[in-house]
Amino acid sequence: MTTKTVMYGGEPYTVVDYGQRCVFCGEDTSFGSGNFVNRIGADTYDEETKEHRDGYGCPDCMSTECDRCDKSIGVDEDLTPYDVYGDDDPGEFSDGAFRLCDDCLTPEEKQLAEANNE
Ligand SMILES: [Zn+2]
Ligand SMILES: [Zn+2]
Repeated sequence: MTTKTVMYGGEPYTVVDYGQRCVFCGEDTSFGSGNFVNRIGADTYDEETKEHRDGYGCPDCMSTECDRCDKSIGVDEDLTPYDVYGDDDPGEFSDGAFRLCDDCLTPEEKQLAEANNE
């Protein structure tokens, strides 16, 4: 792990190179770690330590939860209002949900999503 300090807006600012590690939990994502395939290049800023971390996000940290059933959704498998309504995206679903798994779309939403993906 290498650290360098850069000046940014007149403030010293620490950039930590996390290399192959997850910037959120520190988990190893290198080849053979089991996290390699689904890792995603990521960076984050820690307000407390004023550290900017540069590295990867492991699948656990990058996955999200469905707003309707709380099941975790894999990276890129979530469905947002944009996926269903396209350019008519209302910003959220009728019940206020924003991120849904495939199973939780109502038949009507499913139909719209399919129509939009054509
Ligand atoms: Zn992680
Ligand atoms: Zn769901």
